[in-house]
Amino acid sequence: MENYTIKIPSYTVGPDAYKSIPEYCRLYGTKAVVIGGMKAMNAARGKLLSAVEGSGLGITAFLWYGRECTYEAAEALEENDLVQRADMIFAVGGGKAVDTAKLVSLKLKKPYFSFPTIASNCAAASSLSIVYNEDGTFRDFVHFLETARHVFIDTDIIARAPRQYLWAGIGDTYAKYYEVSVSARGEQLEHFKAMGVTLSRMCMEPLVRFGAQALSDNDAGRATFELEQCALAIIITTGWVSMLVAREHTMDYNGGVAHALFYSLCELPGFDEDHIHGVVVGFGVLLLLLIDGQEEEFEKLYAFNKSIGLPVSFSEIGITLEDLAKVTKRMTEDEDVEHYPYRLTEEMILEAAKRLA
Ligand SMILES: [Zn+2]
Repeated sequence: MENYTIKIPSYTVGPDAYKSIPEYCRLYGTKAVVIGGMKAMNAARGKLLSAVEGSGLGITAFLWYGRECTYEAAEALEENDLVQRADMIFAVGGGKAVDTAKLVSLKLKKPYFSFPTIASNCAAASSLSIVYNEDGTFRDFVHFLETARHVFIDTDIIARAPRQYLWAGIGDTYAKYYEVSVSARGEQLEHFKAMGVTLSRMCMEPLVRFGAQALSDNDAGRATFELEQCALAIIITTGWVSMLVAREHTMDYNGGVAHALFYSLCELPGFDEDHIHGVVVGFGVLLLLLIDGQEEEFEKLYAFNKSIGLPVSFSEIGITLEDLAKVTKRMTEDEDVEHYPYRLTEEMILEAAKRLA
């Protein structure tokens, strides 16, 4: 038998989550440097500074990560004296800022802590960076980076973020449950994978139950119980699941029809620029469920999408069935459906899509 280690990051959540920074960070040294998004740092700066005041831990600089998570942006930060002299990195922001900070932390071998300021993806709690080119096009996935030593989720900051992030985050997050559970169907799973697959249910349940309320709380800027449950599903549960179901050199259960649809539609000119990832992926789950014959789940999710304004038809995302037919071959070859319990065919996709035209 092989030896292996599983790492998943711990977290603190709540309107005063940053107050526990000294407790978790102090043992890694005395100097922290912030790498973050501009709006994110503006939202978090005051709370970060007051959290470390008098603790013996100092924040030496607030550095903007750049416009995209690129290797070039990471290199510029790696060469920055303030970053080199820091004992640890505070990654503050949405996905791209946190992903950039992860690359820097990997290269400079410094621990990092993450501070998600929106609830839209699991970058703060996962060990993956999505790297782009300077022009914004996709470049690379960097897998199996170190995880954050701790994740600090300030729900007051998240409640004041624009609602679009949470809205799209909901679609991308419930997709995790449907994609993972279908991909792993019928397999004999090792302990950590079985945990990931079982846990993936919590990427869906709290969102369907509390999502609509959480969105109106977000509109009102209130950090309620419902908003907190949704933020945790999007940031923490999804991060843990993605790490548990795909360990190095083992079968990867992340991904499925919903992501294959999004990435394939991005081949159509202009689609990428006009559409938000999580919104299309959330719609793609409806297609996944029809192809998979999960009629009851389909009805449930269709009603849920309608209730929060996520799309329920191809026409809502500006796609005709003729457009779809142009990318169905690409979909069946997408790596997201490489590990699937059955072979996805173009006929299956087009047949199911008729009900979603
Ligand atoms: Zn996604």
